[in-house]
Amino acid sequence: MGGSYIMKDTKVCPKCESLNIKKFDRYYASGGLAYIYVRTSSFGGVEVRLYVCSDCGYTETWIDKKDLTKIKDSKYAQKI
Ligand SMILES: [Zn+2]
Repeated sequence: MGGSYIMKDTKVCPKCESLNIKKFDRYYASGGLAYIYVRTSSFGGVEVRLYVCSDCGYTETWIDKKDLTKIKDSKYAQKI
């Protein structure tokens, strides 16, 4: 796949061309250590990851590929 602008895959910042990309699975939200959790069904959901360029601060948010079927099958979302 030709997703050459996807920082998660290229490991190069598309804004400043830095190679210093960090991945965060947990981070602070108001109230304490947390993560973004997308509910996809009555019984479950998926976590959202952050990929951050540590030189310019550009940030991408991604859901792991293994969780994408839960997203596709979810009746909790609206198709736009
Ligand atoms: Zn950058």
